[in-house]
Amino acid sequence: MGGYEETGVLSLDDLLNIPSEKQLEKGVAISECIQNIPCNPCVDACSVDAISMKDINSPPVVDYDRCTACGNCVAVCPGLALFIVKIKEDKAWITLPYEFLPIPEKNDTVDALDREGNIVGEGKIIRVRKQNSTWIITVEVDRSLAMIVRNIRCRR
Ligand code: SF4
Ligand code: SF4
Repeated sequence: MGGYEETGVLSLDDLLNIPSEKQLEKGVAISECIQNIPCNPCVDACSVDAISMKDINSPPVVDYDRCTACGNCVAVCPGLALFIVKIKEDKAWITLPYEFLPIPEKNDTVDALDREGNIVGEGKIIRVRKQNSTWIITVEVDRSLAMIVRNIRCRR
């Protein structure tokens, strides 16, 4: 598959930096914001200065060693372009912004979707919360899907 400019769908090759296994085990924010746009609420939302930009138009870069996986940046991003990913043993937890209805409930089984909206597996809802008017959902999926799953679909 080609890159974002060709397909309109972001692929791993488009990301500015990919966290190591060790950083993913700690849990980190992943920025999938790669275009030059004048936007920076994610930078202001981060209390540990883990997100930087060369200038207001530059894509954000996450310092994975600084990031505490608090999720504040996920809740303020108007582009829904930030995710928290954490892996442990054979599982991965993806924390993502969610704008569809119905809002899933804890322990729901959902379809796990890739960046194109294809079903790539099954997920279990671990946490549902609302922050800054944004629903933030954490879904548990197979570890192999940690860098693939970026959305969910409720089965209810
Ligand atoms: S998850 Fe929290 S610590 Fe990590 S980059 Fe976002 S706001 Fe900063
Ligand atoms: S808030 Fe979201 S859209 Fe804006 S720069 Fe940060 S990651 Fe990109």
